[in-house]
Amino acid sequence: MRTVLMFGALLLAAPLLPAPSAQAQDGIGDLVDNRIVFPTSVSQGAMVIGKVPAGSNVRYGGRELRVSGYGSVVFGVGRDEKGPLQVQVHRPDGSSETASIAVSPRDWPTERVNGVPPKTVNPPPAIAERIAREQAQVTESRKRDDNRTDFSQTFLWPVQGRISGRFGNARVYNGQPGSGHSGMDIAVPTGTPVKAPAAGIVTFAGPDLYLTGGTLVLDHGYGISSNFLHLSRIDVKVGDRIEQGQTIAAVGATGRATGPHLHWGMNWFDTRIDPLLVLERGK
Ligand SMILES: [Zn+2]
Repeated sequence: MRTVLMFGALLLAAPLLPAPSAQAQDGIGDLVDNRIVFPTSVSQGAMVIGKVPAGSNVRYGGRELRVSGYGSVVFGVGRDEKGPLQVQVHRPDGSSETASIAVSPRDWPTERVNGVPPKTVNPPPAIAERIAREQAQVTESRKRDDNRTDFSQTFLWPVQGRISGRFGNARVYNGQPGSGHSGMDIAVPTGTPVKAPAAGIVTFAGPDLYLTGGTLVLDHGYGISSNFLHLSRIDVKVGDRIEQGQTIAAVGATGRATGPHLHWGMNWFDTRIDPLLVLERGK
């Protein structure tokens, strides 16, 4: 990512600089500077990428963040996070700084979802146990902190279609309040190919989970992952390396769904983030 940006900057600079100059050298020198760069304000549900001096120790939300060789770090902002967020940075030279980031609140309208099978809203005990077991497996797959910066790619839409459900909205299933919607829904027909929005490694693939049907988790590194639910078909297996744009599955209406759509959720570890905000980063 940084290489691409640098290259772009050099291309833009080229017509202005008749010969290689000291300025280009200064630009490269910036890579090892001592600055800490985070947005001053972020939205609830955002994925935040910041920059610290390489080799720093960085803590946020009770975690030590992985720091890339270029000093990139990433974390997610929860749906109900109020802020201000505190990111503690200990530089390799021994100095410390805390970045304070404001959180702009969002509205969470209520979405009523009627016509879902009643047994998926109030499952009997045996089913509740199955749901908990399956959820634990998915949760486990999100604990990884792989040293891959696939999350820094510009994310692509996994399918093209109308947004039929937004992240965070308060869901009421058959009149009964549920939790906030954990991802975004895109209404597309069954069988529509699902493409990887960014590269990653498959960390969970289940053809038939009770609530979420065909379920796939793709890990983008540093704790950032995507999940795709209600799939009619899964084309990949756990451990597969996936390139951006590769077809990984097909849309369906399996599990608790009222019709065919892709549910795309994203996480930073167990914090759910909004895929739409991640897509908008690339604009
Ligand atoms: Zn959904």
